[in-house]
Amino acid sequence: MHRVHKNSDFSIHNIPFGITVINGQHHVSTRVGDFVIPLVELQNKGIFDEFSILQSVFTSMYLNDFIRLGKKITVAVRKKIQEYFQQFGLDSIPAYDIRTVMMSLPVQIGDYTDFYSSREHATNVGIMFRDPANALLPNWLHLPVGYHGRSSSITVSGTTVKRPKGQTLPPEAEKPVFGPSKQIDFELEMAFIIGKENQLGEPISIENAEDYIFGLTLFNDWSARDIQKWEYVPLGPFLSKNFASTMSPWIVTLEALEPFRVAGPVQEPEVLPYLQTKSSNNYDINLDVIITTSEEKENTVSHSNFKYMYWSMVQQLAHHTVNGCNMRVGDVLASGTSSGHGPDSYGSMLEIAWKGTKPVQMSDGSTRTFIQDGDTVTLKGYAEKDGIRVGFGECAARLLPAD
Ligand code: MN
Repeated sequence: MHRVHKNSDFSIHNIPFGITVINGQHHVSTRVGDFVIPLVELQNKGIFDEFSILQSVFTSMYLNDFIRLGKKITVAVRKKIQEYFQQFGLDSIPAYDIRTVMMSLPVQIGDYTDFYSSREHATNVGIMFRDPANALLPNWLHLPVGYHGRSSSITVSGTTVKRPKGQTLPPEAEKPVFGPSKQIDFELEMAFIIGKENQLGEPISIENAEDYIFGLTLFNDWSARDIQKWEYVPLGPFLSKNFASTMSPWIVTLEALEPFRVAGPVQEPEVLPYLQTKSSNNYDINLDVIITTSEEKENTVSHSNFKYMYWSMVQQLAHHTVNGCNMRVGDVLASGTSSGHGPDSYGSMLEIAWKGTKPVQMSDGSTRTFIQDGDTVTLKGYAEKDGIRVGFGECAARLLPAD
């Protein structure tokens, strides 16, 4: 009998979508508790018959074709799955133990954008890298700052990351040196996946923005701080970021997150009309970061929450497209590091260990200012309210030494 533990991220209220690999075949799948259900099994039962979905959509390598069916269908599919399990239980369908299934990157990602939308994070970085008196640059409270990242190096949770080499300027030095980065960091982020395309030249209004968001994942925007510090002026991060990003395998839909909607921080000064909304557009999602040292000891180094973000996803999307920039299905837009109000809730080692000045004690006796070779960084996220829990599982990756 398949049961769902009450603390499972994958309750019947969740029904996320991901890509599993079973016996060498890719499957669009969902997960309930610790069981994975390929959607083709439900298709074979006839529960999606009214939608006339091609079988190939469910055996694709990525979710893009499924997402492209549109929310009208994907929302209805998710509802059908929920109803089916509520009526017939999990035992009525072939399901696979999650431990026996390989997860694959859920979407084929055309473009990846990273925002910088946590006021606490931007303030902390501004204090450390520039000027405590003017930590936020003048534009920051008026627009969601972002940059175009690189999609080719985004990998699914479980994929290792190799410590990159690059140029850095050592303290007091006049000339840069080349070698392995000495300051590898994580960034605790969430990312949203584009579910609908706009035409080039046609902005997505803030009122319509949710229609274009399929769902969310956890996202670790690995960063090499020493490389970043030397390279980032004037055009922003480049090689300090594009060596790796890790995303969690299950896309949790916006519909599953609806019960956890909350108001974001008050925005003062008032933002321009194209960024204004009356609705509550943040989500109360608990976020944790765990560093597992090579001794297999787990250390939780941060408890944050996605609700702290100053700029919401709908503001990010309205801003990103206000110039007519076109989005494509599968594009990934990450939130930026999600830091809370104090060191216990900061979203990067740069902030937690305050640029290396406050080493963090690990349970095996060692300390960390940044991530060491052999460490695994795990992000976790879940929302919970009135006994309903919807979570993201894990976004984990181990850091390997440079060549
Ligand atoms: Mn980032």
